[in-house]
Amino acid sequence: MADNILEVKNLSTHFFTRAGTIKAADDVSFNIEPGSTLALVGESGSGKSVTSLSIMRLVPPPGKVTAGEIMFNGRDLLKLSEERMRRVRGREIAMIFQDPMTSLNPVYTVGDQIAEAIELHERLSRKQAWAKAVEMMTRVKIPDAERRARDYPHQLSGGMRQRVMIAMALSCKPKLLIADEPTTALDVTIQAEILELLKGLREDFELSMLLITHDLGVVAETAGRVAVMYAGRIVEEAPVRQIFGNPRHPYTEGLLRSVPRLTEQGIRRRRLETIEGTVPNLLHLPEGCKFAPRCAYVIDECTTADIPLLQVDDERRARCIRHDLIGDVSARTRPERVGRSAANAG
Ligand code: ADP
Ligand code: MG
Repeated sequence: MADNILEVKNLSTHFFTRAGTIKAADDVSFNIEPGSTLALVGESGSGKSVTSLSIMRLVPPPGKVTAGEIMFNGRDLLKLSEERMRRVRGREIAMIFQDPMTSLNPVYTVGDQIAEAIELHERLSRKQAWAKAVEMMTRVKIPDAERRARDYPHQLSGGMRQRVMIAMALSCKPKLLIADEPTTALDVTIQAEILELLKGLREDFELSMLLITHDLGVVAETAGRVAVMYAGRIVEEAPVRQIFGNPRHPYTEGLLRSVPRLTEQGIRRRRLETIEGTVPNLLHLPEGCKFAPRCAYVIDECTTADIPLLQVDDERRARCIRHDLIGDVSARTRPERVGRSAANAG
């Protein structure tokens, strides 16, 4: 067994609301090898952010981690004291989010904010911290960093602000970076630049990464492995090339249909083909497979017993009893449902 930097084992995080218990993360397991990137993919509301907040022990009430282990470098983060956990955050595991504006303070310059983050973890004079902040801004390829450091957040573009967040996150040399939809708010060309930057930094900083996104298009060039989440559970986990080439869960197959295609003319988004049906209400999940109501391959067995995550082969797992049929059109019992998928945008 490889020495994983992170092993999430049977993690369950529930929200205890008046209306009932929401299993936002339900028996979630995955590993990240040192220096590699795992992408966590799924529609909005599938439990991706709750999973990452669980790792950081930042789940807000009424949420609570109810079961599982989060082994980071061999220690279970769930067992650390709050004080030790505070030292893990930022210094060993850093996190970046979709909207840098919510994490940046509008009344301080970005250089000051990066310097302050550095001072939290290192004994440096203000001047040294500032110099290091400028150096970090250079490393995330912000042009003219010396001058930019004196800018306030609103003076920077969205892409530059995200670079500032990355500089801040990496300034304490964390081992693991959790990036929760880091490019979702940016336009397509800037998205590509940020992903390229993250790839380069992963090598420079010997980083491991958990990349969270609702867009499978983002993971192709960035991640080694992909875990697909649906209704709080992992439904498929496989190397990225197999996710794209030969998915084994109908939900993954559905997600793939809405991925933008790269053509000679540039990026062309196919007519957005969302998966038919609605994201399930986590308070009222169906028996058996949670995806069954939206699934083109559904048979009676899918809706009676709980479906385990099945080992498809050495490299991948899928929570589908019909995984060997996915991709085989004749296996679909409701052709009228998948008929739309054949329609391709011109
Ligand atoms: P996403 O995959 O979009 O990141 P989240 O992890 O943010 O999804 O949320 C997953 C589910 O957890 C939501 O659909 C919601 O049902 C539940 N949830 C998240 N935060 C809260 C909260 N503060 N209170 C109650 N339920 C929550
Ligand atoms: Mg989220």
